[in-house]
Amino acid sequence: MVKKILILGAGFAGIRVAKDLSRRMPADCKITLVDKNKGHLYTPDLYEIASSPHQKITEECLVELRETVVTPIASIFGSNVEVLRDEVLRILPESNSVELKNAGKLSYDYLAICLGSSTNTYNIPGLEQFSYPVKSINDAVAINCHLDTFFKELWKVGKKPEIDINVGGGGPTGVEFSAELSFYVNFLSKKYKYPRDHVKIRIIQGGNELIGLGREVSMIALNRLKAHGVDVLFGSYISKVSANEIELKTKEGQVNTIKSDLLLWTGGVKVNSVVSNCFGDEKSAGAIMVNHFLQNDKYKNIFACGDSAFVKNQKEERVLMMAQFAYEEAKIVAKNISASVAGVAMSEYIPSDPVFIIPIAGKFGIIKYKEHVFSGFWCWLVRRITDLRYCLQILPPWQAFKKWMHGNRVFVEND
Ligand SMILES: Cc1cc2nc3c(=O)[nH]c(=O)nc-3n(C[C@H](O)[C@H](O)[C@H](O)COP(=O)(O)OP(=O)(O)OC[C@H]3O[C@@H](n4cnc5c(N)ncnc54)[C@H](O)[C@@H]3O)c2cc1C
Repeated sequence: MVKKILILGAGFAGIRVAKDLSRRMPADCKITLVDKNKGHLYTPDLYEIASSPHQKITEECLVELRETVVTPIASIFGSNVEVLRDEVLRILPESNSVELKNAGKLSYDYLAICLGSSTNTYNIPGLEQFSYPVKSINDAVAINCHLDTFFKELWKVGKKPEIDINVGGGGPTGVEFSAELSFYVNFLSKKYKYPRDHVKIRIIQGGNELIGLGREVSMIALNRLKAHGVDVLFGSYISKVSANEIELKTKEGQVNTIKSDLLLWTGGVKVNSVVSNCFGDEKSAGAIMVNHFLQNDKYKNIFACGDSAFVKNQKEERVLMMAQFAYEEAKIVAKNISASVAGVAMSEYIPSDPVFIIPIAGKFGIIKYKEHVFSGFWCWLVRRITDLRYCLQILPPWQAFKKWMHGNRVFVEND
């Protein structure tokens, strides 16, 4: 009988599971990959999309912009993977099936859950309503267009008030976004003849360091941000947001209010609700628990990886929600699904030491590997090469190279 292998989500994890399985599986297996979107998103370059300059924003230039970080899922696979564009509504492990919005129920013999995460606003009043999340391609394009329209309107009415752009969260995403926004604001100020020194970009960070990789990384980032006119407000937590104001609280409970014309929110993610509704509990922060084989202990035919899984390292701590881990976990999931089908022993997942690469403002980056910290142009270059490596892993070489070159051309325009 044909074995049905169903993969939910075509992000970093799902694409890798499907790619590896398609190479490994015998002909009597059917692999189906389901995603609600047509394209696979490369999140690490999203900050470039939000801040890409255009003299005139047209439908064509937005399509071109999207294409730099989104790859049509169908173009990644041959005929041995069925790609289904549909939304997963529910996972029904008792009946080995999932419920899809359009196709209805779909049954499986083996399931790989790779549904990722979504923006977490932690129930902070007004945050969802009055901030821009930075998680999807639509979020990044919306920020880009909104900023352009915002400056255009200011120019039309001829006012020159102080503008406050705030970025909630001083992790890698917040730092990358705010740094690149400084270039975009330079461009928009020129385009709409607005005094640049009337525009303030500020990161609001709860802790006393940026990025979360130690003091040395934080100091390098802080200096780079300052050199590009980005301020950082440490020790402040966003507690309430309205259309033009942000209420901040310190750890000691002191309350302060600041003006805000635009708030970008990069402060956190939570597990995809389809997964948390079905499997999550408090201990796993909503994620599906998996053992060292990345298999669910209760439902042995369910495997999971990436942001929606609670994957533990050898010290039983949760592995970070990062693309590089999603990718290597996915390789083990593919290996273990084929092992299960073949009835042979599975492999344990042992996370490797992560390499953190954080680009900050143009052709500059910071790399942290174990205790070693590097910074400068070369780190930015390593990052660009990492992007090429990823393209080569999902596309044929010529297409990968073309896509990467296209990205390079678009991304350096703003530096
Ligand atoms: C702005 C930003 C920058 C980042 N930069 C880095 C970086 O530089 N390095 C790094 O290692 N990590 C980075 N990350 C983290 C990284 O993106 C995630 O850890 C990674 O994407 C997790 O992979 P995943 O496959 O679990 O989820 P995702 O890549 O998010 O994929 C989930 C997939 O599931 C699909 N999906 C979700 N819900 C449904 C549904 N109900 N039905 C059907 N399909 C659904 C989505 O469309 C998506 O394609 C960044 C994240 C963000 C937001």
